[in-house]
Amino acid sequence: APTPDPALLARARSVLHDVFGYPDFRGDQAAIVTHVAAGDDALVLMPTGGGKSICYQVPALLRPGVAVVVSPLIALMQDQVAALTANGVPAAALNSSLPPDEQRMIMQEALAGRLKLLYLAPERLAHTETLDLLGRVATGPGLALFAIDEAHCVSQWGHDFRPDYLRLGALHERWPGVPRIALTATATVQTREEIVQRLGLQGARRFVSSFDRPNIQYRIVEKHRPIEQLVSFITAEHMHPADTSTTAPRPDAGIVYCLSRAGVERTAAALNDHGIPALPYHAGLPAETRQCNQARFLREDGLVMVATIAFGMGIDKPDVRFVAHLDLPASIEGYYQETGRAGRDGLPATAWMAYGLEDVVRRRQMIERGAGDAAHREVQRRQLDAMLALCETLDCRRVRLLAHFGEVSEPCGNCDTCLDPPERFDATIPAQKLMSTIVRLERDRHQRYGAGHLIDILLGHETDRVRQQGHDTLSTFGIGGELSTAQWRAVIRQLLALGYLRIASDRYAVLTITEAAVPVLRGERTLELRRDVIGRAGGASRHPT
Ligand code: ADP
Ligand code: ZN
Repeated sequence: APTPDPALLARARSVLHDVFGYPDFRGDQAAIVTHVAAGDDALVLMPTGGGKSICYQVPALLRPGVAVVVSPLIALMQDQVAALTANGVPAAALNSSLPPDEQRMIMQEALAGRLKLLYLAPERLAHTETLDLLGRVATGPGLALFAIDEAHCVSQWGHDFRPDYLRLGALHERWPGVPRIALTATATVQTREEIVQRLGLQGARRFVSSFDRPNIQYRIVEKHRPIEQLVSFITAEHMHPADTSTTAPRPDAGIVYCLSRAGVERTAAALNDHGIPALPYHAGLPAETRQCNQARFLREDGLVMVATIAFGMGIDKPDVRFVAHLDLPASIEGYYQETGRAGRDGLPATAWMAYGLEDVVRRRQMIERGAGDAAHREVQRRQLDAMLALCETLDCRRVRLLAHFGEVSEPCGNCDTCLDPPERFDATIPAQKLMSTIVRLERDRHQRYGAGHLIDILLGHETDRVRQQGHDTLSTFGIGGELSTAQWRAVIRQLLALGYLRIASDRYAVLTITEAAVPVLRGERTLELRRDVIGRAGGASRHPT
């Protein structure tokens, strides 16, 4: 990499110090700031909390003219503008929530060159008024740079796709001389290439920071009784004893993610019942309740936020000590973004998840029933498969996670599979018993049987349904006594996650075998699975020494 101009670097340092009050740049910041300040394009990949804002705010102050920052979240823009204003930097945000006269005033300030940073919501780019304004700024005070925050929103396959981000290409065509910096914390190798393609950033220098968050301990436990497991996890590892006789014990600050609003309500109520103060957050709550709960979580100590993924974007609370998932996220990107909210202060933190068979079934069904075309579904399937592979891995979780972001690493010693290696067992024979039961049931096209019924047959349970259907006469009836119900569920979950089984119907949880199962069924291939021991993984952690 070229060495930055020392004079420019010195100016950048003094801006960092005088305006933002930081003694020095972190990680790649110095290289990025000088690169952009010198007028060149950059693509910045940095994990959440890495310090992306400085990367465009300092060059904005070093270059003449107004810097335009495109950012997808109004709340985030307002926080940034408030922070900049507090540091004495003239900045403003244009978004549709402002009254027209205020918008006009901001435009006048920009035209007069009195603003250093102008934040724009992406939908603004669809208005000719905005483009006219930028045109007049360009010929007046000048355009310092374009910063494209959350650049992965340009990816049509990502979960944050914003169609207006596609207009950013046109900005560059109109003002090709203005340097651009695109930033994101969520980019797989494919997303990265998509950003480059769609924004025309082929010539941009790439700054890729490590995505590792070494202070976060990753753990994924088998879901059994999720709320009980969560309570014992928090109680064992994240509670502080009462300091006097008048105060109650209190938990570390933590976030618990649930898939549904009902799940959020239920979990928050249960935590409170167990003496763990918790607040709910989901899109179904009145806006005032949401804002109030969020503000309390940010300000007070000893609160657990129980939330859907509606919560968290732009939340900067450094001392979140744990992030727990009670339901499986749809992708590793989502999981990493959510768990990344833990331990931003660099102190030890835990990412804990309870995951089970029902998660695999539900997520697969959500994809098959969901809106969108076949190509989109295929992308979602691949994202889920990667997430499931992380859950089922027999190797270091961090190695898997980082590999997903294109980084090669060594086993970390600070995840559950490193600290407590899972027991493996040869599951070929149990898998054959299960698969041949499925094949036998498939001959009966009118009935739909899920995992529970399969396990009843394998364990020889004479339930009403088993007797009515005559399944007690199947040759596989009662041949599965070597495993318990929970162990059979774990086997089914792994076979589904690893692609040996799939959900046949989109309306019922019906299992069927895939092509991959055939060699196992024929005895041409053996199969090794992890033996999950209920209760074992839910207990206390061992921290690395
Ligand atoms: P990101 O957008 O990458 O998640 P932010 O820009 O919000 O990260 O920065 C994360 C935190 O790090 C903020 O609290 C910010 O003030 C702080 N920070 C950024 N750069 C530095 C630095 N050079 N020195 C000290 N603190 C910094
Ligand atoms: Zn590890």
